[in-house]
Amino acid sequence: MPGATYGPQTDLVIRFEAVSRDTLSALHEVSSAYTCAMSVYPGAQFPQYRPRRLRQSAVFRNLVRETHLSASQLVLPIFVRPGRRTRRPITAMPGVCQLSVDEALKEATVAHQAGVPAVLLFGIPETKDEKASGAYATKGIVQQAVRVLKKELPELVVITDVCLCEYMSHGHCGIVQRNLQGARILNDPTLKLLARTAASHVEAGADMVAPSDMMDGRVRAIRESLDQHGFIDTPIMSYAAKFASAFYGPFREAAESAPQFGDRRSYQMDAANAREALREVALDVQEGADILMVKPALAYLDILYRVKTEFGYPTAAYAVSAEYSMVKAAAANGWIDEQAITLESLLAIRRAGADILITYAATDVARWLGGK
Ligand SMILES: [Zn+2]
Repeated sequence: MPGATYGPQTDLVIRFEAVSRDTLSALHEVSSAYTCAMSVYPGAQFPQYRPRRLRQSAVFRNLVRETHLSASQLVLPIFVRPGRRTRRPITAMPGVCQLSVDEALKEATVAHQAGVPAVLLFGIPETKDEKASGAYATKGIVQQAVRVLKKELPELVVITDVCLCEYMSHGHCGIVQRNLQGARILNDPTLKLLARTAASHVEAGADMVAPSDMMDGRVRAIRESLDQHGFIDTPIMSYAAKFASAFYGPFREAAESAPQFGDRRSYQMDAANAREALREVALDVQEGADILMVKPALAYLDILYRVKTEFGYPTAAYAVSAEYSMVKAAAANGWIDEQAITLESLLAIRRAGADILITYAATDVARWLGGK
């Protein structure tokens, strides 16, 4: 089997072949793949080869560890809201609050001191309307937060989530057209607002923008807008494969962005589709995305692996609200070891292909890892 490699992909191919062809030829495929795999590792046989040799001490294990977690890979999401000295706890996400800008600065300072290099800002505006005015207002909540963070913590990388749902009275990520049949989310008119929002974030000082809306063509629209404004050096981290997911449940409370009608399945991806995810990602690459994100993370490790393998781009994974809440809830009951479970989950996400880890546990994780 020339060109065959040993690993999850080969295994998948064999299983597929095994059900679709006659048994003898399937068996032949399996045995030749095995031979091929063993030829990659000549001499790798028991008793000469004993994998346990390199597991017998921590020093050995550290020497041969393939995947590493570091604080330098972490991004902390922060929810900013109007007001002063306001910390509004999010019930389903213990330890996470909606923060006024002054409190967001404190939170970001603590995270940064712990070794977290970047934050991802979400905004909860004073008022919402049907054109998401607060998303691209010069004095919008995210724009205010960016200015303060970049002034007080110039070293901190400030990434902004670019979407309209938090700013829309109906809670959808795009412009809504109502008709007799119900309502539609309009794609192309939404692009203009997203592009305007991204430019206003960068105008305020954002280091990177992260479009999360899943409208078609939005990375290109944002790239063009940034370039026209002279922001040619500002990278785009696109939520390239973002799935319609029940794992976002607690976030909706956090960002006050639950849709008032319908759901997001007409723009976010179907959880069943991996090949479509690769096409989605390919589009974002063609449109100029600099970093590709998969969201959620832990239930979508196969997508992450394939995105990293196929494209080789800098890749981010967003460990979303329910991933965090489930660990917190189980830990509060004494059922699991919060630190061990969190670190193992993030390690799995890294192993699957993520370079960047976006997690609500970022500050704790940075402390556990001993900072930079
Ligand atoms: Zn949205």
